[in-house]
Amino acid sequence: MSDECDNNCETCTKTETCMDVKKKQILEQERLKLNISRIKHKIAIISGKGGVGKSTVTVNLAMAFALNDYIDSVGILDADLHGPCVPKMLGLHGQRLPVGPAGIFPVKGPMGIKVVSMDFLLENDEDPVIWRGPLKMGAIKQFLSDMRWGELDFLFIDLPPGTGDEPLSVMQLIPDLDGVIIVTIPSEISQIVVKKAVTFARQLEIPIIGIIENMSGYVCPHCGTESNIFKTGGGRKIADDLSVPFLGSIPIDPAICSDSDEGVPFIIKHRDSASTKAFTKIVKEIECFLDQKRLEITTEPRLHTQEIEK
Ligand code: ADP
Repeated sequence: MSDECDNNCETCTKTETCMDVKKKQILEQERLKLNISRIKHKIAIISGKGGVGKSTVTVNLAMAFALNDYIDSVGILDADLHGPCVPKMLGLHGQRLPVGPAGIFPVKGPMGIKVVSMDFLLENDEDPVIWRGPLKMGAIKQFLSDMRWGELDFLFIDLPPGTGDEPLSVMQLIPDLDGVIIVTIPSEISQIVVKKAVTFARQLEIPIIGIIENMSGYVCPHCGTESNIFKTGGGRKIADDLSVPFLGSIPIDPAICSDSDEGVPFIIKHRDSASTKAFTKIVKEIECFLDQKRLEITTEPRLHTQEIEK
């Protein structure tokens, strides 16, 4: 039977009336609005291609913010529905979303980080999620509107690589997204896809907080020699070429990989490493961006008033 309305209510066999459907949609919309209004800053992490360390960056940035005065006030939405790996990186794999009379809650990780991921809903690790666009949009909408995120200072959204359904859904569902961070590696192939990510954000008029170059150089722990396995400087160059801020470079560190596998956030375990210092510097750059944005917002009405007075 066609879903299209033929404007004949008498013969309509739908169990829900149009009014019920509309009311439900309005309620859902209100719930979404209310839920995300309790989260001060919403930042999406994107990349042109997979395997560049986007989830690693998301987890460690979230952790860096939690360590930096935002304990119990940071969340991560793992919006990579097909390959969720944030729970594994935080040692939360195998847990379930707690359900109570008040609703469904995120799983709490180290430093009180609240995590929502498809991984908490899958019965079996080997089960693939085979969904088309509308279902994915529905799942992300529910993650944002039905979860009891509570009051948060930061929500980091880990998006799957590319510019498909999930990034589009997040951009549409969160109109006040603070911006996107683009993760890349120094190789030329990665630079080509960064351009696509930048164009994507610009077309949707989403602010670009900046580009992070991950896997940037490697210092041998035995002889101290520095090697640029994936070249170096590509992230800064592409940022300059595209007039986008460059947030910083994170070196290759075998401990980042082993910590992720063990479910221990790298920056907690290796507080004095070069990579942790790089993350800390990037946090400052992001704070700077947010301060600047706040300043623009607070000065805007003043300008407006002056214009009216004129
Ligand atoms: P993506 O989310 O872009 O697919 P991941 O964050 O899953 O990428 O990272 C891919 C792999 O690379 C993981 O095993 C991760 O531990 C490792 N990795 C990421 N960044 C670094 C780094 N700077 N040094 C060493 N290993 C890294």
